[in-house]
Amino acid sequence: MIEGQHFVDRSVCPHCGTIHEKATGMNTDQRPQAGDVTICWECGKVAFFTEDGRRRMPTDDEYRTKILGDQRVLAALAYWRRTKKR
Ligand SMILES: [Zn+2]
Repeated sequence: MIEGQHFVDRSVCPHCGTIHEKATGMNTDQRPQAGDVTICWECGKVAFFTEDGRRRMPTDDEYRTKILGDQRVLAALAYWRRTKKR
């Protein structure tokens, strides 16, 4: 397992349908919480964890403020684009 990686409840990417069972924090060892941003390793799109551990699409407002407006998320997306095999 990768450092900082956690097993999470099985959840499905709302964008591509990939099933996820693990998540890795960018700068924390904490398990993901409701409202945390998550990036699908398969498709590179952003979702949010829900109270019941699922993943949901961002709202338009969240997309503007919590994705485009958060340098940490933009950096993670740039990392995904650099490292994801083509
Ligand atoms: Zn996906």
